[in-house]
Amino acid sequence: MVSSKPSPTASLAPSVPGLVRVKSLVRANSIYQNMLGRIQRQRSSDDNSLFSFQSPHFQKRSTQILSLENLMSFGLGSGPYGEPIRHIMCANQSTRIRAQRRCTEQGSISCPRCQLVKYCSERCQKQHWPRHSSTCAHPYLEGNWQPEWVLQERPPSFACSSATFSPSSFVFPAFDALNLTQNEGVEFIDKNYKLCFAACADIRNLIETVNNLPSNYQGRFDVLINNSDPIIINRNLVILYALLNPEPSIDEAAELAVHLMYSAALSAPSAAYLQRCLDDVYGSQYDNYSGNFSFRTYLSTRGEGKICSLQTVAGVRSPLEMFMSTYDSALALKNRWKVLAAPENVDTWDRFLSRLRPSHRMAFKRFRETGVLAPFAADTNRFMHPNRLLFSSQGTWLGKSDFNPLQGWDATLIQVSGAKIAMIESADIFGCLFFYLKDQFRRFAYQVKNLNVNFVLTQFDPQILARGISAGVIPIFNGACFDRIDTKDMMDDVGIEACLADWGPLLNRENRFASLLMHSRAWHSERPYALARCNPHVALMLFMHKCFKIPALNSKLKDVFAQGLRSPALLRLIESLDAFYDHDDIFQEFLEAENTEPIAAAFDLGLRPHHKVHPKRFGVSLDACAHQMPDVSKSQFYDLASLCEVDFSARFLEFGWSFNNFSL
Ligand SMILES: [Zn+2]
Ligand SMILES: [Zn+2]
Repeated sequence: MVSSKPSPTASLAPSVPGLVRVKSLVRANSIYQNMLGRIQRQRSSDDNSLFSFQSPHFQKRSTQILSLENLMSFGLGSGPYGEPIRHIMCANQSTRIRAQRRCTEQGSISCPRCQLVKYCSERCQKQHWPRHSSTCAHPYLEGNWQPEWVLQERPPSFACSSATFSPSSFVFPAFDALNLTQNEGVEFIDKNYKLCFAACADIRNLIETVNNLPSNYQGRFDVLINNSDPIIINRNLVILYALLNPEPSIDEAAELAVHLMYSAALSAPSAAYLQRCLDDVYGSQYDNYSGNFSFRTYLSTRGEGKICSLQTVAGVRSPLEMFMSTYDSALALKNRWKVLAAPENVDTWDRFLSRLRPSHRMAFKRFRETGVLAPFAADTNRFMHPNRLLFSSQGTWLGKSDFNPLQGWDATLIQVSGAKIAMIESADIFGCLFFYLKDQFRRFAYQVKNLNVNFVLTQFDPQILARGISAGVIPIFNGACFDRIDTKDMMDDVGIEACLADWGPLLNRENRFASLLMHSRAWHSERPYALARCNPHVALMLFMHKCFKIPALNSKLKDVFAQGLRSPALLRLIESLDAFYDHDDIFQEFLEAENTEPIAAAFDLGLRPHHKVHPKRFGVSLDACAHQMPDVSKSQFYDLASLCEVDFSARFLEFGWSFNNFSL
């Protein structure tokens, strides 16, 4: 399995202090590769069946390799020499001007104006000022910055009607789909669990769930990850393998995984390492595909568990073309920029920026321009290779123009942990996100290393998959075995009835906490009056209520209304109305029209009055009752509404057992 390609570290850009290090890395790496080759050959001879137990001989070798990990490096980190970064560097480190020396100290003093960069000393700050001044004086950092459409006194290109607002993509903060503390409890450490993510777009919820397993958990944890989109499922497969295969150190793998998920460009060693991972995942079978109908791969992880994938050969073809493509990086990055800077997207981008604090506007600008998820001051010049997981086989950018990685995580937690892990100001929001994600991915890799976690990735239409599981097509998931099933927003496509009929029978009847999770953002599509933002009367009442409570708002609102629907503040206000509106009666009407309770009862299921996995709507507590309204502080509201862009009209459903006095 070990590739014969040159070591990825060999392609590190030479730099005077880095060169010696690179040479020693290459030498160390070849010793490491030899060792690894022997171990992997041993591994494949041990590895005859799905999820076989490892021999004691292999386990001894595994211990040897893990201790080696600390000494050897693949150069997959985000630092200037490919080393993982653990803190914020002094910002005085740009290499664009060759004559300038790179400061290698840790940054500790923030730039007082933008708070986006840190310096080790006043000397470095002064030295860096000529290069930093244009950033620090950027109009985005002005409190009174206005979108282009306001300055040009024209209507924005997006339709201003309140009804048209809905967050572009429905990504919301990751959650723990098991939530043991609220359900089975963390004390039963040897209980086995089976989970199903029936329409899994990425590995965020998986990471959150595995990370929340107790560290002393001794049971077996099996997860089925399915998506009918071949590119999505294969992207997840490759990222999981890159993070969980035992070759690189966990620190390096965690940083690599951050970039594979979110960065448009990779460093040379990371791009080379990605190709090696592809060889491992697809390589041995690639030549033999023509004669087979199914693609099966079994891959080892850092721990006892395995990654297994069952797909059709036809399904693997297009992602493989994409991942193995050869378009050059200039073309890819040009194509990406074409999407981001398209004239039709300018006003939407400005609208997004108008919701942000000044420093966050600047942070987003930087992320957009570099395409690399890293701290603000990080030197991203090394990231010159396209991340082939995010571009089509022709080099077309597959991301959206308003791609926002913060949508998928808890923005409040990100800022708190940014300060805790690396003493970063919340202004450097992508720095906070980088360290937060690295920490999450590291914990995930350690959990997989220490516990028995197994992954099965499939690429089927969910309804066909459900029937296949009932028929015992996937041996480790046989019939009614799942402790949790997350069907995501499938109910919006196929209806609640089909979701219940497909997945209800697959829940584990032995587990009183087993639950079927759904969510909907389209439930109001035939009830437009359900939303505050589409209901002028309600909107007016809410405005008046707000003005009554906060007299200072009165005069502010006058200014806002004077600009009409061109006013970014008014747009913001309308967008946030649904956070403060009680939709429960109309939502109930929707559930009744869908015949939800009788259909669920036919499968011995019922809607839980109090949730145990995910709150019913954004901003309320987990056990919130009906009609409970979001209760969040001003800054939590900013994090939810502006950074995570959550859709406050989205609704979450949980079904639990209704028989044998089992609590719902
Ligand atoms: Zn500054
Ligand atoms: Zn310095």
